[in-house]
Amino acid sequence: RFAYVNGRFVRHGQAAVHIEDRGYQLADGVYEVWAVFDGKLADAEGHFARLWRSLDELRIAHPMSEASLIVVLREAIRRNHVREGLVYLQVSRGVAKRDHAFPSPAVPPAVVITARSVDRAAIEAKAAKGSAVITVPENRWGRCDIKTIGLLPNALAKQAARERGAIEAWFVDDLGLVTEGASSNAWIVDAEGRLRTRDTQANILRGVTRLTLLDVIAQAGLPVAEQPFTVEEAKSAREAFITGAGSLVTPITSVDGVKIGDGTVGPVASRLRALYIERARAGAI
Ligand code: PLP
Repeated sequence: RFAYVNGRFVRHGQAAVHIEDRGYQLADGVYEVWAVFDGKLADAEGHFARLWRSLDELRIAHPMSEASLIVVLREAIRRNHVREGLVYLQVSRGVAKRDHAFPSPAVPPAVVITARSVDRAAIEAKAAKGSAVITVPENRWGRCDIKTIGLLPNALAKQAARERGAIEAWFVDDLGLVTEGASSNAWIVDAEGRLRTRDTQANILRGVTRLTLLDVIAQAGLPVAEQPFTVEEAKSAREAFITGAGSLVTPITSVDGVKIGDGTVGPVASRLRALYIERARAGAI
């Protein structure tokens, strides 16, 4: 395997960043993840747009143009022989003597890219069985719209999920409303049959998969409402699922151990999974 580190490809096992990289010391950086279909980047534009926005919000310089980044991402895919998988990109503010404030003068941002294959057939078989989520109190900062590498609350939530046999943890705010998952957006098919996911005015990540799926839903003519839902509503929903570059559209069949619907994967979630994959595959570049 090969990783891209600051301008060159190196063996994955030897790839390293400096101990005073601000990403390492302060989580001062951002990341993006693209799903790869047929060796190509899925939802490419949406992920680029969010990357530039995350960098701008944190006043980190763009390390390269979009055209150059596409070349390097494709090279990472090619060198790692990925047909079906994921590409990870991380940009930190760079290497400087440890100090909370930004280095002055500015230093070049540090860029790392990795790519790996996934076994889509195995994942598909698993998705067809349905998965569990748990809920945890929302304890993240107020700028979850920025895709930063500061993921400790997400890591702790995901670990709690794993220890309880669940694939994801849903954060729940003070009003009892689900915000999003540790690495995905949360959805239900509510008691009235409407697709529900939290609006992006809230403190959540604006999921690229979420956005594409909203378009898929509109084209399919299904009823949808960008409105938050409570844990209780989720437990009495007809169906539930999560979206993300890693999970794509993954059906959820229990929340905190309570069965959703009859406890099997619902027709809407499985149809949307197929429609999303079809759309993402066709639109990959
Ligand atoms: N919410 C969080 C906290 C995430 O980390 C992610 C993705 O990793 C998502 C939502 C889904 O976003 P996307 O569909 O752009 O992958």
